[in-house]
Amino acid sequence: MGDGIFKGKESLAKIRKVVDNVDFKRYFDYTTDIRCSIEGCESTADFEVILYDHYLKVNKIFAEQDLTCPFMCKKHMDENEVNAKGDRVPRGRINYPFSNQHSAQGYTKYSPLVQ
Ligand SMILES: [Zn+2]
Repeated sequence: MGDGIFKGKESLAKIRKVVDNVDFKRYFDYTTDIRCSIEGCESTADFEVILYDHYLKVNKIFAEQDLTCPFMCKKHMDENEVNAKGDRVPRGRINYPFSNQHSAQGYTKYSPLVQ
């Protein structure tokens, strides 16, 4: 699991494209004073949390803001990745401590919030 964080971040450029050009679903808009979504955390959010999946057969990408945990600080993003259980593969299932609490198929990616 040591490279989990890197894996979560490696395709961010791709995600950005997806977010910009495809029908990305966003539930909560980002504002500069937005906080980490983890209960009890007072930190400013560093990342938008994205539920991502890839349907290989039809080459379709699914990406939407994680309704269950839309924003995270750096510390919680690290914790979320270190403690995730499962494989980051298309149509896979991963148990995360914070994100994807509805256990949707796919995996979590993080888009840095640039101010
Ligand atoms: Zn936090």
